Amino acid sequence: MQPRPLDARALAALAANPGCGRRALLDGAGVDKHALATALGSPAAFGQSQFAIVRGNSFEAKVKGDGGAELLRLVHGHLDPGAEPPGAGARVPDLTAAGPEGRAARTALALREATAAKDWTLLDHPMLALEVAGSPAYLEPDAVVVHPDGRWTVVEIKSFPMIDAAADAAKVGAAARQAAVYVLALERTAQKLAGAEVGHSVLLVCPKDFSNLPTAAAVDIRRERSVTRRQLDRLTRVEELAATLPEGLTFDPERTPEELAEAVAAVDAAYAPECLAACELAFHCRERARSAGEVTALGRSVRGELGALTTVEAALAAASGAGCAEDPTAAALHRAARLRAEALGSARDAAPAADLPRPRPHVPESPACPC
Ligand code: SF4
Repeated sequence: MQPRPLDARALAALAANPGCGRRALLDGAGVDKHALATALGSPAAFGQSQFAIVRGNSFEAKVKGDGGAELLRLVHGHLDPGAEPPGAGARVPDLTAAGPEGRAARTALALREATAAKDWTLLDHPMLALEVAGSPAYLEPDAVVVHPDGRWTVVEIKSFPMIDAAADAAKVGAAARQAAVYVLALERTAQKLAGAEVGHSVLLVCPKDFSNLPTAAAVDIRRERSVTRRQLDRLTRVEELAATLPEGLTFDPERTPEELAEAVAAVDAAYAPECLAACELAFHCRERARSAGEVTALGRSVRGELGALTTVEAALAAASGAGCAEDPTAAALHRAARLRAEALGSARDAAPAADLPRPRPHVPESPACPC
């Protein structure tokens, strides 16, 4: 089976969960995680519906219509209002070439020519190359705009709405992480070109208030860029991760679910509810985290607050007073449990049992799909 090439979405998801060795290893090795999850018996309902894809494509075509006039107007208005406004016939170079390498070379040439021309230029679906873990990954942003001063801006066109100038924060975060990968790839090209500079604010274009009209917002991706960069540097150590694994370990989807579960369990994971929106193995990892009683299944914030208490069992033991007396988290939990019991005891004395509030279990919500 051919190794699956890394794309911007996979690289962005890696950056969103930098502690997960399992994902880093599987992505670095080009394992098809969807096929693996299906063979494990836990396929993830992942990706966009056909309807959403068609709607997204038609919105993108509308945004880029008329020679990119509307898109360039949005970039000018949101990111470069001091520059000369784009004219009616802005430059939109032809980027067609054979294969991803050819398209990446054609894009690099178009970027060089546009920077030298000092005029507004729209690169529609350029191809960018980024070396990850020693092999090239080819990435295709929706658009890159070259400003008259030589600045390059990444444009992300999404089909989720911006209502009253605000969009779903989780979806904006996912788009920002994806754009950060494109910015890193563009920076590799810009390094070789005098006068070129990659903007660290990207333009997010969405439908306005449930209509099909485009609206936009500048998104500062400096934080996402540095996290992604750090994570990509870590990816170069995938060989080291693999070196700690048993000889002959395989993730071949033809193996039995039991063999595959054993192979997957050999690599450390860092499950969090956010995985549900970003990783094909999320259902499998969630089930394993829950059956092991890991507090991380309740969310990263709970995991962070419980410190060394990594299992529900350890947290309950600490609450009952059986935890380590030296551990401030265990002591705080015990104190909180005592206060809660006292409060419930006084409420019970004052009200009939049926009126007593019932403790509600914390059930983390599945984040919405960022597509
Ligand atoms: S679902 Fe599993 S493999 Fe994927 S990022 Fe989360 S913990 Fe890692």
